[in-house]
Amino acid sequence: MIPATTFSGKRVALFGLGGSGMATAHALMAGGAHVVAWDDNPDSTARAEAEGVPTGNLRQEDWAAFASFVLSPGVPLTHPKPHWSVELARGAGVEIIGDVELFARERSAVAPDAPFIAITGTNGKSTTTALTAHVLRAAGRDTQMGGNIGRAVMTLEPPRADRFYVVECSSYQIELAPSLNPTAGVLLNLTPDHLDRHGTMQHYASIKERLVAGSDTAIIGVDDAYCAQIAERLERGGKDVVRLSKRLPLPDGYFADGTNLMEAKEGRYERIGFLEGIGSLRGQHNAQNALAAVAACLRVGLDLGEIQSGLESFPGLAHRMEQVGRRGRVLFVNDSKATNADASAPALSSFPRIYWIAGGLPKEGGIESLRGFFPRIAKAYLIGEGAPAFAATLGEAAPYEISGTLDAAVANAARDAAEDGEPEPVVLLSPACASFDQFKNFEARGDAFRAAVAALDGVQIIEGAG
Ligand code: ADP
Repeated sequence: MIPATTFSGKRVALFGLGGSGMATAHALMAGGAHVVAWDDNPDSTARAEAEGVPTGNLRQEDWAAFASFVLSPGVPLTHPKPHWSVELARGAGVEIIGDVELFARERSAVAPDAPFIAITGTNGKSTTTALTAHVLRAAGRDTQMGGNIGRAVMTLEPPRADRFYVVECSSYQIELAPSLNPTAGVLLNLTPDHLDRHGTMQHYASIKERLVAGSDTAIIGVDDAYCAQIAERLERGGKDVVRLSKRLPLPDGYFADGTNLMEAKEGRYERIGFLEGIGSLRGQHNAQNALAAVAACLRVGLDLGEIQSGLESFPGLAHRMEQVGRRGRVLFVNDSKATNADASAPALSSFPRIYWIAGGLPKEGGIESLRGFFPRIAKAYLIGEGAPAFAATLGEAAPYEISGTLDAAVANAARDAAEDGEPEPVVLLSPACASFDQFKNFEARGDAFRAAVAALDGVQIIEGAG
């Protein structure tokens, strides 16, 4: 745990007692703060009390006595409307911050030179965070990874000059971290998302921009117009900006040429790494993630040899284009995290010959936006509530069956793929749907897929992603 020593002796209000809220409360207390914690759910408040966290109804506290208000990232700050606790804090002029801010202040106070990589973007945050941490660890660096992935940031080991931090930041966390100051800040991409929480795209983009604006070096994927503008603006303001593109040769920065990772300096190109043969980093989207990891690791002192060898041993993340098994030439891929059509697009674009398992609880628009990929579909195996609608969209464009259950879909897809003459037919679970009609969550759906694949005769299971 990281004791939040910069709050020593201060009175701190805290709202939201889920996992990260509890971790933050303990970090504040370990640092010597006087915490008053609360949650709208009485069970959470009771649990906190049982764990020794002082609680108090923040509606009735004297807000003038608080130095800071620590809010859990799940609690609305602005949209659809500010939570009542936010209104009270604002009314009393108390700063509103989150756990990433506590971390940033602690690092600045005790080990400002500890290399700190912060990562955000609409898509690819977890993959890039896990990949960057993996490359650092594989190179023997003392590496702590957390934030919006895995462990809450304040549960990590305390900052030291030779300790590396890789922290995934959601927009909610950035919004609550005004002094976020990473060594390398990564902004991967921006597409409309979570606008229910952020109001407009401009507001959402401006929050994401803060992470790179506060960093010593701003590493920005410039393949979308929002990020390209942010890079321009920061550079004009004198920031050290490193640009990335997954598809275009840039005059300066890093770009992908197929599976080659290239560095550009004043229009001269040099190959600095490659993704050929790395199963966990297939697809253009992963080229963007890998370029970001490369740029961030170079910035904190790794050499190209160390980075390439880390890329090659990356096991990938579970449920995101995760290779789970092989039988003969057939590859089985679990992309259960794809809970809407947009999220299925990267996987469908990454394989040329697909036995596609899709369906579940469909989102608005169904799979219409994936029509361009239908020629790659050898056959679709449709499950869950979305099956009839998906069948109607596929129509004559690709063969399909209504399999109903995931087990039936895996069995039938495996049987058909075995007959395919292509070099690497892929049985792909990328449902383009939520899972709740048949499973507890997307993880349970992915685990069920892995189990169904493991139950096939003669299959070789691939372990390792996590
Ligand atoms: P996040 O943490 O931002 O939700 P993940 O790394 O968990 O992102 O990836 C989730 C899904 O998003 C992946 O399964 C893939 O379909 C897609 N994805 C991953 N990286 C990118 C990227 N750089 N650009 C676009 N889509 C991506």
